[in-house]
Amino acid sequence: MSAAWINPPESLSSPYTIKNARVPLVLLSIAEDNASIRNGGIGGDADDSSKGTPEVALTNSSSKIDRALSSPYSGDRDGLVLVDITVKDGIITQIKASSSAEEEEEEEEGRNEQQLGTIFLDAKKGVCMPTFCDIHTHVDKSHTCERSRNESGSLAGADKSCQIDEIHWTEEELTARMEFSLKTAYAHGTSAIRTHLMSGPTQGALTWPVFMKLREKWKGRIELQGVSLSILSFFKDEHASRNLARTVKAHKGILGAAVSCSDYGGTDLDPFTTCGDELHTLLDKVFQLAIEFELDLDFHVDENGNEESKGLLHISDAAIRNNYKGQIVCGHCCSLAAQTPENLEIMLQAAKRANITIVSLPLVNQWLQNRCEVGEKTPRRRGIPLLKEIAARNIPVCLASDNIRDQFYGYGDLDMLEVFRLSVFIAHLDRPSLGDWPKAVTSTPAHAMGLGETHGLLKEGGPANFVLFRGRQYSELFSRSQHDRLVVRNGKWIAATVPDYDELDPILAHHALSKTQPLIENYNKENRKTTV
Ligand SMILES: [Zn+2]
Repeated sequence: MSAAWINPPESLSSPYTIKNARVPLVLLSIAEDNASIRNGGIGGDADDSSKGTPEVALTNSSSKIDRALSSPYSGDRDGLVLVDITVKDGIITQIKASSSAEEEEEEEEGRNEQQLGTIFLDAKKGVCMPTFCDIHTHVDKSHTCERSRNESGSLAGADKSCQIDEIHWTEEELTARMEFSLKTAYAHGTSAIRTHLMSGPTQGALTWPVFMKLREKWKGRIELQGVSLSILSFFKDEHASRNLARTVKAHKGILGAAVSCSDYGGTDLDPFTTCGDELHTLLDKVFQLAIEFELDLDFHVDENGNEESKGLLHISDAAIRNNYKGQIVCGHCCSLAAQTPENLEIMLQAAKRANITIVSLPLVNQWLQNRCEVGEKTPRRRGIPLLKEIAARNIPVCLASDNIRDQFYGYGDLDMLEVFRLSVFIAHLDRPSLGDWPKAVTSTPAHAMGLGETHGLLKEGGPANFVLFRGRQYSELFSRSQHDRLVVRNGKWIAATVPDYDELDPILAHHALSKTQPLIENYNKENRKTTV
């Protein structure tokens, strides 16, 4: 176990109760029949229980919750509430408001035989969250940033160096890198990952089989979903498109496309993801394939700051035009920040009508967007969609990792706490209150991924999958790395730690950097303008 601040139960044969865990109220799910508090209790002023709008309720606990909210270390302005969580046989059997010292004494006296056998652990008011869901990643590219460096740090530079890296990809090294990433995410407390997969003729033959093997191997630890990654112009080729849809279907994957997603997205200078007059026809092809093969869709869209880039609107229109009923996820959507208020409203209303879930990748887009290719200018734009405006219109919105340690982002560790923390800073999500934002890294992506009713929530009757942190409030949680967090999966306290980087040395050293040099000379810029 990585930390001693809370000792795991010595035996899992008895039930155990984690006392004094501070959880986001919006991530609690208790039987509605027994709802006893609703629409109250979380306010800026602890004494004013009429403020705030938590949509969940706790069973038979209203007086305790109300009291808990009024104590200095409970029920802060960001919707954290102090509870005890009881776990038996891997299931959360009860969540109740933590007791006061007097109540504790009374409860001890009244405990029946079964309760006497319960082990009690003190979380010391540390934050507890359900395990994370990372809905947009590229684990197939991960850990290649030193081997094929993106020298400019721009999106165009990423495309170029990413293609150069392709020569190194083998089944063995791809498996090693992908699994390294899964181990890392698992140790950080992530239980579901959706990864986009390079799906061209050469890499697709590698990525999908490796993905399938790893999905099977990691079943029960990380639910793994795969999305094909292609630029929109790829769908001009009828034969290749159908083959791709067939491949995706055979691997139980999700169909993807990059739309209006280069630095020149939305303009005539982008024939690859904007495609001029053919845009609507090509989008119709994507939707028709998805309908025919019964596939969900996941787009890279509007990854730029261009006002002309309205891929989200075109995708929404295509979904409605084609009467598409599957799940649609749109990642990036950075150009929303460049729209006029009128056009922003039109785009968001269309996305809402089309039931689109929007995913923001703040870390990667902070790194890539608005970068001066020669490194002389400071970026002015923040590289994020208008997260608050999206959420205000009740459009589901998620935060995710995107790339880690590759050509698109030179850093990152698939740590969703880091993604959450930095997103809060970048987008000012913490004022007036964090409100529903904890859902953006847990229950909202879990819902979009179709993972069932309990994933991403702390739910009575659901599996005991959660992460315990030492930080007691967001101000503590976000100020230190929380690397001593404890991860509980199906009631078991996992001892996983992040793998050492040197684990990858043999695989990366084997593919020497010098191999890239001839490719740089032969690189055909026109051949590949962008992926993501
Ligand atoms: Zn991406």
